[in-house]
Order: sequence, then C-alpha cells, then structure tokens
Amino acid sequence: MISHISAQRDLQASVECSFANFPFLDLKAQFAEIRNDLVTAVTGVLESQHFILGPEVEALEREVAEYVGAEFAIGCGSGSDALLLAQMALGIEPDDEIITSPFTFGATAGSIARLRARPVFVDIHPETFNIDERKLEAAITPRSRAIMPIHLFGLPANMDAVLEIARKHHLAVIEDAAQAIGARWKQKYVGSLGTFGCFSFFPSKNLGGAGDGGLVTTNDQQLAQRLRILRVHGTGKKYHYDLLGINSRLDALQAAILRVKLHHLNKWTHQRRRNADRYRDLFMEYDLTKWLVLPCSQETSFHVYNQYSIRAPRRDDLQIYLRDHGIPTEVYYPSPLHVEPAFAYLGHGPGDFPNAEQACQEALSLPIYPELTFDQQRAVVMTISQFYQRETSNISTE
Ligand SMILES: *Cc1c(COP(=O)(O)O)cnc(C)c1O
Repeated sequence: MISHISAQRDLQASVECSFANFPFLDLKAQFAEIRNDLVTAVTGVLESQHFILGPEVEALEREVAEYVGAEFAIGCGSGSDALLLAQMALGIEPDDEIITSPFTFGATAGSIARLRARPVFVDIHPETFNIDERKLEAAITPRSRAIMPIHLFGLPANMDAVLEIARKHHLAVIEDAAQAIGARWKQKYVGSLGTFGCFSFFPSKNLGGAGDGGLVTTNDQQLAQRLRILRVHGTGKKYHYDLLGINSRLDALQAAILRVKLHHLNKWTHQRRRNADRYRDLFMEYDLTKWLVLPCSQETSFHVYNQYSIRAPRRDDLQIYLRDHGIPTEVYYPSPLHVEPAFAYLGHGPGDFPNAEQACQEALSLPIYPELTFDQQRAVVMTISQFYQRETSNISTE
C-alpha cells in the first residue's frame, strides 16, 4: 500500500517536472509556426510605407467579411471601439437603453456608458454563461434601442431568441463577438446574424494581432458607410465633418499580420476544440465531473473555445493549488459589472444578478491554446484531481 502511494507520488512528481510550468497562452509557439510569413508580410508593409488603412486593411476587411458571411467589414482600432462605433452608427443617444449581460469584459457595458446611454443588465443562463434569453423581454422598455449579446468564451448566445425578440420590439442587435470569431449558431457564423458583429484582434483572441485592433461587420450598406466615416473623425470628404466621429483606424501592419493568421484560423480552432474534447475525456477518466461543471456543448452551437472555463467548487483555493504546482489558470471574471464602481450609478447591488455573481465565484479558465499538448492537459487534470482528493481526505479527518 505504502509503495503504491509512493509510486503514485513519484509518477506525479515526474509529471510535474516534465509538463508543468507552461504558460496559460503560448503565443511564442504560434509565432514559431508562422514566423517566415509574418516577417514577409511586415516587410511588405514597411516597404510600402503605407501604414494607416489602405490596401492591406481593405483586403483584410474583404477576407473577414467573406469568412463570417457578412456583406461588409470595417476595420477599427480595437474591439472596444468596434462596440462603440456600432452604437454611434445607430445614433445611440444619452438615456437610450441597451440590454446586455453583466458577466463579461468591462468594454461591453463600458462602450454603452461612454455614450451616456444606459446598460440594462440581464442575468446569464447558468449553463452557457451567456445572456438568459428567458429574461430578455422583461428588460425591454420604451427607451430600449438594442440588445448586445456576448458570445462569451467563444460560445454563441441563443441568437434565435435574441433576433426574434429584437424583431418583435424593433431593436438593433450588436453582437459582442470579441471572443468568438469562427463560432457558429446553427451553421451561421457569429457576426453575420445581428445588425452588427463586433470583433477584437487583441493578441489573446482567437485571431490576434501584434497589438490592438478590431472590426465591425454588418449587412447594411448605409450603416457600413456610416462606420467608415465615424472611424475617421466623421469625415466623408477630407476636412469636412459630416458626423461627430473618433479616430479609430486599423493599421496596415496589423492587417498584414492578421491576414497571415486568418489562413490558420480554422486549423487553430480545430485544435482548440480537440483540446476541449481531450479535457472532457480526461475529466471523465479522473472521475472529476462529480466536482466540476464542464463547458456547455450544444447541438446548436459551434464553440471556438477562446476560453475553456469550468465551474469549480472552492475555486480560489484550487487556483492557488494549481499555481503552486506550476499549472496556469485565469479567472474570467472575478466580479460582475453591476457591482463594479464604474457602474455604481446604475444603482445595482449584490444579489441583483445571482447567476452572474455565482459564475464569478466558480468559473476558472484552463489553458486551451492550440499548441497545448496532451501531456500538459493530463498534468492539469491530474493536479485538479489531487486537489479534490486532498479536499475529501481533509473533510473525512475533520
Ligand atoms: C476583448 C473583449 C472586448 C474588447 O476588445 P479590445 O480589442 O480589447 O478592445 C470586448 N468584449 C469582450 C467580451 C472581450 O473579450
């Protein structure tokens, strides 16, 4: 018995030293794969000395529009600006209301508040982490202008419900697809379903640049035209200001890099999904599904796993244990937006959106990047297993 335990410990130790201490996201592995193509692309832009918008950006816009199946794509400075520009194109005014979820990155609701419009929060569905379509209609008022669903972690929100409710109440739909390029709802790509799709090219997104970048898709020609004007200070003709705009342009270096990476996106997505399948198998093998809730997989949805987020009891202790054993994790997100100081003026408090609050206590994101190896994944799962074995033995000795 003792030798069995120590053999197990030896095995564990060897797993730890050979496979632990890897990063949460290994962008260097990706760079190694495409280094030559990136250098060529960047050199081409340097030789052209055309840095802002221009042919590289236009080519990327065409390619992304085609990729997601939208008519138009307009590059801009960031995913946050994509959300902002979409609302500016709609003519969102102070006190207009936009319905969204509080379990997201701050830019979602921040883009609404920046226009002095009002983010109206609706709680999330506990299984998907996305806005709960059953609670949407109750949030609509005469001041509602749009619904802003987030395809959180790469899983599409229930777009049938969102689009139906939006149609019924004449609301626009602004998809926050920052984490979800390539994700599909019933065969249709996110970003092609709503009035707008808003994408981010932040380096950690599934299609990431070498800095900030973003893009808006739409099927509406007039809105596309407004977006093109709004991103360059509101100028249609140079030094004439048709609209009050901002400076939010995509630059050619980013576009050239993103064009190289777009060719690899489907393969990387496939690898992320394979990794998710491997986690599922490992969690079953280690009998951990009695402790953990694994990410939702739905018939209707093609999940692209920008994050692989589980729900874990004693999440904070688990995270520390994993860190101490060389396993990197992240908490997305530690706090729902409705209790953050920046949104205090909305007058919410703890208890208002219990599912979002619970997710903030339980959600833990594990490494899922395409180049992650099976042995690294096994090290993650074994270490989680050890943590809960200790938990049970602590409880039984108490
Ligand atoms: C990353 C992200 C954004 C903002 O994108 P940036 O390019 O960083 O400005 C918006 N919404 C969500 C859900 C995101 O994950």
